[in-house]
Amino acid sequence: MPKRKLTDKQITKLLKLYKNSIIPMDKLCKIFKVSDDTILREMKRKGIQRRVTVGFCGEENSNWRGGYSLHFAKNLAIRILKKNECVICGYKISTDVHHWDGNKKNNNSNNLVLLCPNHHREVHLGLITKENIIKNNS
Ligand SMILES: [Zn+2]
Ligand SMILES: [Zn+2]
Repeated sequence: MPKRKLTDKQITKLLKLYKNSIIPMDKLCKIFKVSDDTILREMKRKGIQRRVTVGFCGEENSNWRGGYSLHFAKNLAIRILKKNECVICGYKISTDVHHWDGNKKNNNSNNLVLLCPNHHREVHLGLITKENIIKNNS
């Protein structure tokens, strides 16, 4: 994503949208064509508290996140990958399970991956693809 500065007018608009926590970060990035870092930096400059974001996978249907299904998928992913860590950076303290096809009911072994919250977000922002990860691991 190319680095781009926001105009004052855009920042005012962003401010309104950012406070509305229903709009996920990746959507804001798309609307303003900037990275989430740029958005967070501008919001910090305006003195806006970093909002508490809901994990990306659970966004469309927040019941999934804490629900049995994601726990099930995560445990399954740990069994398949034989370790509980981010497949990209090896971060172990907090991991999310991600479904490549976006279908949380598809718990096929090639559809599940464990990611740290940062890399999980990058996957949802389209910065990392399944192919990238496979290439790096082989
Ligand atoms: Zn990671
Ligand atoms: Zn995900």
